[in-house]
Amino acid sequence: MSQQVEEKQETKKASQENFNVFERTQQIFLTALQKLGYGEDVYELLKEPVRLLTVRIPVKMDDGSTKIFTGYRAQHNDAVGPTKGGIRFHPDVTEEEVKALSMWMSIKCGISDLPYGGGKGGIQCDPRSMSFGELERLSRGYVRAISQIVGPTKDIPAPDVFTNSQIMAWMMDEYSHIREFDSPGFITGKPLVLGGSAGRESSTAQGVTICIREAAKVAGINLEGAKVIIQGFGNAGSFLAKFMHDSGAKIVGISDAYGALYDAEGLDIDYLLDNRDSFGTVTTLFSTTISNKELLVQECDILVPAAIENQITEENAADIKAKIVVEAANGPTTLNATEILTDRGVLLVPDVLASSGGVIVSYFEWVQNNQGYYWTEEEVQAKLEKLLKASFHNVHCTSVEKKVDMRLSAYIVGIRRMAEAVKWRGWV
Ligand code: GLU
Repeated sequence: MSQQVEEKQETKKASQENFNVFERTQQIFLTALQKLGYGEDVYELLKEPVRLLTVRIPVKMDDGSTKIFTGYRAQHNDAVGPTKGGIRFHPDVTEEEVKALSMWMSIKCGISDLPYGGGKGGIQCDPRSMSFGELERLSRGYVRAISQIVGPTKDIPAPDVFTNSQIMAWMMDEYSHIREFDSPGFITGKPLVLGGSAGRESSTAQGVTICIREAAKVAGINLEGAKVIIQGFGNAGSFLAKFMHDSGAKIVGISDAYGALYDAEGLDIDYLLDNRDSFGTVTTLFSTTISNKELLVQECDILVPAAIENQITEENAADIKAKIVVEAANGPTTLNATEILTDRGVLLVPDVLASSGGVIVSYFEWVQNNQGYYWTEEEVQAKLEKLLKASFHNVHCTSVEKKVDMRLSAYIVGIRRMAEAVKWRGWV
């Protein structure tokens, strides 16, 4: 790697703790490519998405007014195949975030050898305050706005934060209307009757569970009775609480956007699951809660951040009690915090590996759509388990061999194929 690239890296290292997820992603891409011996040309191409579309979507609201929503679709790189990744509906969606998330998707797909590059979409909106009808019109409007650049062999969306199988169904229906033929392979995370895959809904949590099991073996922790804190009670967090609880672990803490619950003796998970609303809110039913910040530093063996970005930082990393941190959310730990945790001997399983169960089963869904032949839930789970276990060990062995933390190791494993592909295609 040239001196110029090394200097750039030094400057970035010297900067203060980085909460900007896009810059953070560029920093780790640079380091991973450097470790693999690639030059600046490859970094220049892969340091941001090849395509980014910004759209403005007019939506008729229930009160008769028209509201204009801003949305994005980023496609990181399609050298290994079509791009793939979810669409989030959230008030805080930004262009930078969507760009970073599309790059993380490239890494997730690369680690498990899925024949995709990364993509990501987002719409600035608050689905919690929108009606069903408004959400349907917004979802269909977004598909019309991005239809030119997506498709079953171009870019395949999926659910992400605050989007679900109903939204995928509207989007698939809209796309099929535009193209004038049934296109189940346009989007994944669909309801079963529209070509969804068995096991897709709980697949992110299944993947996190597999990673927790493998990490526990590496760290010598017995999962029976192990104390687990899960930050976030949405799709991933709630399914995970159930899986871990069923397998004999003790869930001592959970949280949602409004607060957190902690009980060293274990929480009543069945009650919490039965009483959460569709956005994962449950702590509002309790009078004594603690904050999300307080929850992260409570006593436990395993901590699973399953909520939002930048939760474990330079400020609290030294106070985390867990021996294993498994990132079910995208981007919950900053790079400085990763370093602090690793120095303290905490085993950190990074988001790009731990949360990849979703896209792995999305890939299975797309394969089933393409072949028109569907698998049982047992078959899907067995395939997920086999693939993710191998990916975990590949990332772990690389981290031991190269003496780097699991995050950098995951990026090294995940970017290798794409860097090779852009060379073979003659793009750099
Ligand atoms: N949104 C999920 C993720 O961040 C799933 C993406 C997909 O299934 O394509 O991994």
